[in-house]
Amino acid sequence: MSSVAEMRELWQVPGWTEDDWLCHGLTTTSWGNLALHVGDDANQVIARRIQLAAFLGFSLDDWVSGNQIHDTKIVQVGLAHKGRGAEDLDTALPGTDGLVTHEPGILLACFYADCVPLFFIVPERRVVGIAHAGWRGTAGNIAAKMVEKLTSLYDLDHSQIYAAIGPSIGKCCYRVGWQVAQQFPEEVIEQRGEAVYLDLKLANLLQLEAAGIDRKRILCTSICTCCSKQFFSYRRSGNEAGRMAAVIGINQRRM
Ligand SMILES: [Zn+2]
Repeated sequence: MSSVAEMRELWQVPGWTEDDWLCHGLTTTSWGNLALHVGDDANQVIARRIQLAAFLGFSLDDWVSGNQIHDTKIVQVGLAHKGRGAEDLDTALPGTDGLVTHEPGILLACFYADCVPLFFIVPERRVVGIAHAGWRGTAGNIAAKMVEKLTSLYDLDHSQIYAAIGPSIGKCCYRVGWQVAQQFPEEVIEQRGEAVYLDLKLANLLQLEAAGIDRKRILCTSICTCCSKQFFSYRRSGNEAGRMAAVIGINQRRM
């Protein structure tokens, strides 16, 4: 580990760090902006991605990203996809907000500034997945679609799947309009005076449970990206906000 890397912090799912076949995390602001679509210098973004991949034991050639459009399309990533979206937006998997793979040596990456990172692992079968769930993706039930994709692709039982809901905007800060609120069940909406607040983490938790994942196998963090300066937040910083990368992959070296 280099001295630069030591200064950098990744949020990881508590309890998932012992699995030596698995590599995962969500970057903090210490890694800088990792997305190519926010007007940042592309060469700098690519340099940061190279550092992040190396920190995790991967190379940029292993990186695969989708072109996220707040929808619910999920792609099964194979070796032929390696490098897609790693250095430019043109090669990113089109219109894709969810990625799954069983292939070691692939680093799946999605980008966030307040939206919910959803992580999935199947330790018995060594399968991983990641999804980007903003309010649109959550309203579209991308969490359940990830579960459905995993179970159908890999012929899994629901009890084999573990899920995690990572740092994202909390109910404390996520004021929404009625048009958005009315697309969600009452239990994830809180009214404070005239204002309406949405609990996106809880919405995803309920969807995962409804999709057949036992509550004991779901980790849901309480960290709010808008409250915590360790994370980028679109709500806090507007268009200036950088993007964090959530990554997940199966470690090739230890197979
Ligand atoms: Zn907050």
